[in-house]
Amino acid sequence: MYLVNVERHFDAAHYLRGYQGKCENLHGHRYRVAVRLKAASNDNAGMAYDFTLLKKELERVLEKYDHRCLNEVPPFDSINPSAENIARTIYGEMKKELDSLPDGISLDAVTVWESPESWVEYRPD
Ligand SMILES: [Zn+2]
Repeated sequence: MYLVNVERHFDAAHYLRGYQGKCENLHGHRYRVAVRLKAASNDNAGMAYDFTLLKKELERVLEKYDHRCLNEVPPFDSINPSAENIARTIYGEMKKELDSLPDGISLDAVTVWESPESWVEYRPD
């Protein structure tokens, strides 16, 4: 079993609705996002999945959030752009992006860091 990870980031603003504290005010983060694939074996080139390909796939998903106010970008115009919701949303978008993964490879988890000390990892039950 191999766990293949890549990481990218985007910069965005957000605020939390229905929350009392400093996160209710508009502020920004450099969001680090990691994607992890689970792979049963590696191929003839010795790779379970190409890092370059996975980075590109993640970048395609993150592009629409970069340098935006997340509260204006669907689905965060209707759900709070919390790290939890961002991780689950990106997981769903990566799942679509990776819809034709080879046998034995699956999307395992998406991790979103709001700061170096605070992050959420999402994986479905
Ligand atoms: Zn925040």
